[in-house]
Amino acid sequence: MPKKNRVLILYTGGTFGMIPDPKDPRRFKVPELSDRDLKRRIFSQVPELSRIADCEIEVLYHLDSSHLGPVHWIEMSQAITRAAREYSGIVLLHGTDTLPYTASALSLLNMFTSTPIVLTGAQRPLSVLRNDARRNLISAVEFASKGKTWGHRGVFVFFDERLFLGRAVRKKSATLFDAFESPRYPVLAEVGSDWSFTAAMSQVGEKPKRRNLLRALKLQPQFSRGVVSLVLTPAFPSALLRSIASGGAEGVLLTAFPSGTGPTQDPLLVSGLEMLRARGIPVVIATEGSGQAANTKTYAAARVFQELDCVFAESDTPEYGFVKMSYILGQKSGQKKFQKYWNAFRQAGL
Ligand code: ASP
Repeated sequence: MPKKNRVLILYTGGTFGMIPDPKDPRRFKVPELSDRDLKRRIFSQVPELSRIADCEIEVLYHLDSSHLGPVHWIEMSQAITRAAREYSGIVLLHGTDTLPYTASALSLLNMFTSTPIVLTGAQRPLSVLRNDARRNLISAVEFASKGKTWGHRGVFVFFDERLFLGRAVRKKSATLFDAFESPRYPVLAEVGSDWSFTAAMSQVGEKPKRRNLLRALKLQPQFSRGVVSLVLTPAFPSALLRSIASGGAEGVLLTAFPSGTGPTQDPLLVSGLEMLRARGIPVVIATEGSGQAANTKTYAAARVFQELDCVFAESDTPEYGFVKMSYILGQKSGQKKFQKYWNAFRQAGL
């Protein structure tokens, strides 16, 4: 019999492994299971795993993903790096709420890992009927086991029969199985009777060569905890920017209106941005929406951002923009050389 590929399943918690709360069965809670019992439960409920690959499970945490952050991203990344040589692929089971942030962080921390890394989770736990946990896991493991042979590497998200670029996803539904979208990057594959890859998939594999540009930066696995993320609104309380500037912020991510505009006629917004600039605190302008990112030159209401040296996140999601900003600012001299680092990531396709 041909040898099966090895896949490591890293478990971090989330709805996937939850059980109905005995006090209120409409709610789910993280079960108090030993690692051994959890592994046993997954293998007994999804026995097909052994037909796809030689799978092992490593339990990292039993956490709702709302409790995960930079410390966990770094630990996950280290577990992936340790395993990458021995396994054909890695599946990370993760809660859906902050999955886009973790996928973004791993896209940066593991940019040189040649083993496919697939994040997945569930809207309904494996322990209940009519769940999506089981099918998400099966396909994620299938892709992780064959991805390398198919010539694919990188950080991916698999959910509801679709494969996405990890750093491009956003959570769009708290209840539908179709929980994620990739508003500015094409879906990479759809699963029906077989895997059907789109043209975008071939481009994902091209970037690693350009990533060598980033090797010279000797990036450390560190994130700033000083990035403040704000959403611009009509009547935005711009005066608060001054307290943010003097209150210890290391960077500000502003999610602007979809065309990259903001209430820039407000003198307090302008003076707040000027103060941030004077203190050397970088400002990144992100936008929500789908399709191509806004061309910030189109509207006068976006010009001030350019004039005040704000950096544009272009097609990056606000989640990825936030994580990338935190990563750059976590580096020694990341604040001083923010623009240089940001451009280096851009050139590398990240
Ligand atoms: N709150 C849960 C989590 O993010 C939701 C989920 O897993 O879908 O861990």
